[in-house]
Amino acid sequence: MTKFLKSALSFNDFPNTNKELIFLGKSNVGKSSLINSLYGKKTAYVGKTPGKTKMLNFFDVDKKYTFVDAPGYGYAKRSEKEIIQFGEMMEDYFQKRKELKLAILIIDVRHKPSKDDIDMKNYLDEFNIPYIIVANKIDKLSNNELFKAKKVLIESLNIKEENIRYISALKKDNTSLLKEEIESILLK
Ligand code: GDP
Repeated sequence: MTKFLKSALSFNDFPNTNKELIFLGKSNVGKSSLINSLYGKKTAYVGKTPGKTKMLNFFDVDKKYTFVDAPGYGYAKRSEKEIIQFGEMMEDYFQKRKELKLAILIIDVRHKPSKDDIDMKNYLDEFNIPYIIVANKIDKLSNNELFKAKKVLIESLNIKEENIRYISALKKDNTSLLKEEIESILLK
């Protein structure tokens, strides 16, 4: 069972957990859809409720591990102050959170990664955090388009093919596989 633990903005408020993974992605990329498809229909509603959209939302999974739903970045209507707050919160998290074992960075398979996507990926590299890039919305592309998109993503993110997974959160394509992989990393 997946259970909401708490929302937090800074290190002192983070809950006591053991092994943790974090979901990151630009707003509208399908992060909530993916979390719901992995952990139950309405899990991600918390991160969409007023007051919690800008916080880190912690969830317990079967008392075995924790996942964090991070605020979507790159939202056009955010003020400069909000962007700075987001950066500070993420830095606090990445620098100090020893429980963090894996990050899932979700991108939209249809688009060349944005500067924010690339910054986030570089950040993970910089902090030495193991991560998987998850390219979502593959249902929107033909096989041929997907083939071309894969090349663009790998080149523009400067990653190896083995670091990227292709899914559709909507159609649940490859989502069970992703969950197995997440759990094999976290629960080993
Ligand atoms: P979030 O802002 O990252 O949490 O994104 P949401 O999960 O709210 O999804 C944003 C929009 O993208 C919604 O209209 C979803 O239905 C849609 N969406 C999410 N995942 C997929 C997908 O795999 N395929 C398609 N076609 N649409 C998706």
